[in-house]
Amino acid sequence: MTAPQPKAPINWIAVFALLFLPLVAIIAIPLYAYHHDFSAAAWISMFVLLGFSSLGITAGYHRLWAHRAYEATLPMQIVLMIMGTFAVQNSILFWASGHRTHHRHVDDVDHDPYSINRGFWFAHIGWMLRDYKSGGANYKNAPDLLNNKLVMFQDKYYVPLVIAVHAGILLPIGWAVGDMWGVLLLGGLVRLILSHHVTFFINSLCHMWGSRPYTDENTARDNFILAIATWGEGYHNYHHIFQYDYRNGVKWWQYDPTKWLIWTCSKLGLAKNLRRIPSFNIKKAELAMKFKYAEQDLAVYGLNVNDDVAQVKSKIALEYDAFTNTLNDWAKLKEQEIQAKKTAVAEKIHQMDDKLKLEFQQVEQRLSQHRETVTTLMRNIKKKAVSE
Ligand SMILES: [Zn+2]
Ligand SMILES: [Zn+2]
Repeated sequence: MTAPQPKAPINWIAVFALLFLPLVAIIAIPLYAYHHDFSAAAWISMFVLLGFSSLGITAGYHRLWAHRAYEATLPMQIVLMIMGTFAVQNSILFWASGHRTHHRHVDDVDHDPYSINRGFWFAHIGWMLRDYKSGGANYKNAPDLLNNKLVMFQDKYYVPLVIAVHAGILLPIGWAVGDMWGVLLLGGLVRLILSHHVTFFINSLCHMWGSRPYTDENTARDNFILAIATWGEGYHNYHHIFQYDYRNGVKWWQYDPTKWLIWTCSKLGLAKNLRRIPSFNIKKAELAMKFKYAEQDLAVYGLNVNDDVAQVKSKIALEYDAFTNTLNDWAKLKEQEIQAKKTAVAEKIHQMDDKLKLEFQQVEQRLSQHRETVTTLMRNIKKKAVSE
């Protein structure tokens, strides 16, 4: 149990946007549909604008401004700012500063602004309904953003910008397709509510459901289904261990449209210096977790349940020792590189990185074989017990 938190005053603007608007939608949408029906264009505007505003948050607010995972040219920044403003999630400065605090103090009930340890409702939406001050009032964790003219401009004129962006996007579309109310209701209202909850899922469900392939030191999870809903942000376990990577779905096959968008922009000359964590570090984290899981499996089966299981267990232990030794060697070499800065050492490191990648792959295969063997052995033991 956690200590009760002191309650801040209610933030009425947030209550209006997050509770009142959905209420309006629940009443207005069916009523309008009953009397007028929505045009196909209005439905299409909803889906297109959902992508438009959500990607402004994921590629702009999140990966560009909160994490500086890449650099964007001014035109790209302006477009991302407009897209993000259309998502109505407060200013870049407020959002990014609060998000940095989330990463720094993840799960901490007192300091993580949307700590999952205060419950699903709080992490999803509750934290915004009271007057939470992002990063304190002074934005100490965002000096780069305080120096960014575009970010500061958006912060200063946030409310007029929200109105201008909505008018500038929705009215021309509504006029062009000849269904003004349809576009305002579906492309405007319903799209806004959907895009809100899509982002909020990252703070709530992505800290509850899914796997932890890279770290179990925090509650963040990888979840493919949530990645579909959140434009690639569902690989949240990876993101929490390597937050500066411009990719959240780090494997080439993982569904991460935000990463594809940033990559495409870099090919078009709009973005540069995309940050990638070296694959060696990623594999290292992944393997360390696999060993941890193997150990947990074996702990469930108890100590030396029979000779065969004990044998596999000792094999895994040996494998783990070798893995730790290799990592130590590698760390020593890295240290030498820093000390000496000699090209010869750098070359050696490069060779070793390649060698280790291969070695880690083999360790991974052997480890999964060992775990399979244990499972089969245990199944046989149980079968035998039942038949006896
Ligand atoms: Zn998180
Ligand atoms: Zn993040």
